[in-house]
Amino acid sequence: MAPRAISPMNTAELPPATLRLRIDTAALAKNWRVLDRLSAPATTGAAVKANAYGVGVDRAVPALCDAGCRQFYVAHWSEVAPVIAHVPAGQVAVLHGVGSGEEAAYAMATGAIPVINSLEQAAIWKAAGGGKCHVMIDSGINRLGIAPEEAGDPAITALDIDILISHLASADEDSALNQQQLDLFREASTYIAHARMSLSNSAGICLGSEYHLDHTRPGLALYGGIPRRELAGEIAQVVFPEAGVIQRRRITAGDSVGYNATFTARENLEVATVSIGYADGFLRLRGRNCALHKGDSRFPILGRVSMDMVVIDCSADPSLRAGDFLHIPFDLPIIAESCGLSQYELLTTLGNRFQIVT
Ligand SMILES: *Cc1c(COP(=O)(O)O)cnc(C)c1O
Repeated sequence: MAPRAISPMNTAELPPATLRLRIDTAALAKNWRVLDRLSAPATTGAAVKANAYGVGVDRAVPALCDAGCRQFYVAHWSEVAPVIAHVPAGQVAVLHGVGSGEEAAYAMATGAIPVINSLEQAAIWKAAGGGKCHVMIDSGINRLGIAPEEAGDPAITALDIDILISHLASADEDSALNQQQLDLFREASTYIAHARMSLSNSAGICLGSEYHLDHTRPGLALYGGIPRRELAGEIAQVVFPEAGVIQRRRITAGDSVGYNATFTARENLEVATVSIGYADGFLRLRGRNCALHKGDSRFPILGRVSMDMVVIDCSADPSLRAGDFLHIPFDLPIIAESCGLSQYELLTTLGNRFQIVT
């Protein structure tokens, strides 16, 4: 077959994006060190699933590795290759485990370590000739993992287990479930040979040293999320979205803005159209009572958020023009509180149109 002709478009250099995600990798590294200090003497890993919670594996993993992190968690096998481009495969754990011979074969070929979640997965891993693995015990979230009663099952005791894992359902609350899960996990662990135990996510680290065991697995707080008040003042913002002004225009009293004309101007206004929309995680419910910023100027959003755009009132700043960049507020606990989305959802729905800059 003749090679496909390369059109000039394919070699053209992409112009700078009108949507940027500024990632403060120093803040990310600092957050990991804070969590590592709080976890000590337990070691601290990092959840980097979902493209490092939207922050981007290619920025996050090297920064975490430089900070001293030696254990990384993803959910899917498709997430392994981008991580092992930066760290040894043996440091990567795949939380969904091996559900098929193909997944077991991929694990063996890459060297990434599965988290075994059921007797079936244990059998699949053994049949594939799999070696070292981690095992998840479900101590009460009822989501993924073997039941505590299955801990002594021969399919499990036959495994070569590095980390025995469990996951807290309500670590961000002062719930009786936390202690119950810790007790159940400890009890189940006595039936299985293992090298290390790990229970706590970001919020779990705040519950005190008995929850740290040998190893912790923070995600959210690495990226600037604050799941419990104990971390306020300790964790720094990592993600700073910025969007460019595409157009400035004048509207007159009585004109409406955006889909369904939900905003009508009471007076003549200067407005600007900005390059961020719900496809970029800036959901309609975030647009309510929200303003974008440039320096000390604050620009309220008018009308509905579109897929690729929002409109702001820029009457207060005659100098604002197309090409200028505006800051999108992204202090996670504050934004989550004000719009009702979780801090996790705010991060992981950012979408893939941002140009990541550091
Ligand atoms: C996502 C995840 C984590 C990280 O949790 P955060 O709440 O983001 O700190 C830890 N462990 C498991 C099993 C997870 O799925």
